[in-house]
Amino acid sequence: MNRNSKCEVKQNGRWHLVSVNDALELDTKEDKRCPTCHGRVRLHHKGGVTPAHFEHREKHEGCPQCHRYDGGKVRLHPHRLD
Ligand SMILES: [Zn+2]
Repeated sequence: MNRNSKCEVKQNGRWHLVSVNDALELDTKEDKRCPTCHGRVRLHHKGGVTPAHFEHREKHEGCPQCHRYDGGKVRLHPHRLD
């Protein structure tokens, strides 16, 4: 299961939702963030049976897209990117 197949990339000062595959091809140094908690993410290329996906650079218990999610109310990341 992989639900982290889309992330947001900042371009020209605005956030755009794109697939991680596309974000990897952009080869941009721009910030990428989680669409749910806005925390900074790291992108991973497809590897074997694992599709391209993102992982939070700093884990966040308030985001269902983070494996540390505590199951509670969804909260924005304490170090979110705006
Ligand atoms: Zn998140």
